[in-house]
Amino acid sequence: MNIVIFGPPGIGKGSISGMLCEKINVPHIATGDILRAEAKNPNSRLKAYMEKGLLVPDEMVSETIEKRLELPDCKSGFILDGFPRTIAQAEFLQKHKIKIDRVLNMVADDSVIVERISGRRICPKDNTIFHTAFYPPKKEGICDKCGSSLMQRKDDTPDVIAKRIDVYKKETAPIIEYYKKKGRIKNIDANRPLEPILLDMLAALKK
Ligand code: AMP
Repeated sequence: MNIVIFGPPGIGKGSISGMLCEKINVPHIATGDILRAEAKNPNSRLKAYMEKGLLVPDEMVSETIEKRLELPDCKSGFILDGFPRTIAQAEFLQKHKIKIDRVLNMVADDSVIVERISGRRICPKDNTIFHTAFYPPKKEGICDKCGSSLMQRKDDTPDVIAKRIDVYKKETAPIIEYYKKKGRIKNIDANRPLEPILLDMLAALKK
């Protein structure tokens, strides 16, 4: 099954995708993680967009995602986290005959999003996501899985968060209508702990 986990920045798409992919045994493909890795290259133009909270141009992301989806591990399905983020990207999937079976749309108020995003800490090595209040690591500031020092993303600062929410509303949210017309979208109340969200998602995949 080919699944899109959709929703505003910081709502928990990465955390829930990590849990869901283990349950249904398909790869978790997060464009943000792929782009952050590419942005480490000193010649990369990506960093300039990402640190300002802007979207990377469609053609740069779409090519990357197409190559990733061609790998053999995607044959029996995938979870896309952070793609599509514009109508053009959704149309790119359709044009390249990449079928999306379900779009799970995580919904919560802006205040919840800001609270989640401000406390987010990530492991720079394996991309595991923690939260200072909701999912703290066993040892403060240290990744449970690999022992690396956790960091706060450069774009998780108040100014950039506000920009990313704005960009989401203008450029990304219109995709909801696009998939609604195709009858593939299911809203999921994201203002809850991860476990009930995961159960709802698993139920939505069976329908
Ligand atoms: P994320 O980790 O999903 O919050 O993504 C971090 C940043 O990567 C975003 O703010 C964008 O700058 C960039 N990005 C990730 N996915 C996309 C996409 N599908 N289209 C354009 N930019 C993206």
